[in-house]
Amino acid sequence: AKRAGRGVVRLFDEAMDEGIRFRKRIEGGLAQAIDKRELSLAFQPIVERDELEIAGFEALLRWNTAEYGPISPAVFIPIAEESNLIHELGDWVLEHALEQVKGWPGQYVSINFSPRQFRRHNFVGHVVECAQRAGVEPGRVQIEITETAIFDDAERAAETLYKLRQMGFRIALDDFGTGYSSLYNIRKFALDALKIDRSFIDGMGRERESAAIVHSIIHLARALGLGVVAEGVETAAQVQALRMAGASHLQGYYLSRPVTPDVARRLADARFIG
Ligand code: C2E
Ligand code: CA
Ligand code: CA
Ligand code: CA
Repeated sequence: AKRAGRGVVRLFDEAMDEGIRFRKRIEGGLAQAIDKRELSLAFQPIVERDELEIAGFEALLRWNTAEYGPISPAVFIPIAEESNLIHELGDWVLEHALEQVKGWPGQYVSINFSPRQFRRHNFVGHVVECAQRAGVEPGRVQIEITETAIFDDAERAAETLYKLRQMGFRIALDDFGTGYSSLYNIRKFALDALKIDRSFIDGMGRERESAAIVHSIIHLARALGLGVVAEGVETAAQVQALRMAGASHLQGYYLSRPVTPDVARRLADARFIG
């Protein structure tokens, strides 16, 4: 039994080494990704629920490596987040997203910021300066942050959000419902919209619980005067259900996949989906 135990430990160590090696490879690759021009942005429309008019586009980072092909941000963002690379990547995203929004007739660009970016010293000053340098009105920039970013140090986060909103930036709380926020805390934060996580939208048609959660988030948002973006909308039935439930905006493959900057620009000019 002892030997078997040791064997398991050895296998476990090897698996861990493998995990660490993988992370190190990702980190090493990411450190060079900008110089090697391996990064790009995809843009996914966020549309108003009735006429499907495009209100804005979410910028989504893409990394296409020569060695392994495309790697999902769900894989590399958490690794970047654990090193200082997230700041460099985040600045690249911000700069390139701001460049694109200038080519659109009026839509906003919605940019994801990780908790570490958000908590960075003088985050507000940094974003303001980047927008100014790019010549973009703050009202055309939506800042997406997750609950994790704001609930660790709620007081400081509230102040940061307040300042950003005062400068005219839009604020959306991403993946809403998946974190450990209490609904009670939401009112303390200067927000424009809640984004309902796609796991709830996905479950809506199947489970009463998901449908109930979606409905209560929408009620809460409306009571607080916030917009609601339903994420991960994949079917016509979901569009129908979300309209009835009162979501203000929809985002998902059913409306449009994330697209290249060129296609985004054409969609922006057309103004409506469909
Ligand atoms: P997220 O912010 O929740 O972004 C939405 C994700 O859902 C995107 O995945 C998008 O492509 C995907 N999606 C959109 N509509 C649908 C749908 O109808 N069905 C399904 N199944 N998926 C849909 P993506 O692009 O792989 O990004 C994954 C996550 O990586 C993002 O989740 C976000 O947390 C992070 N991420 C992406 N770009 C950035 C970035 O520039 N900065 C930071 N900090 N994080 C980013
Ligand atoms: Ca997001
Ligand atoms: Ca999300
Ligand atoms: Ca997510």
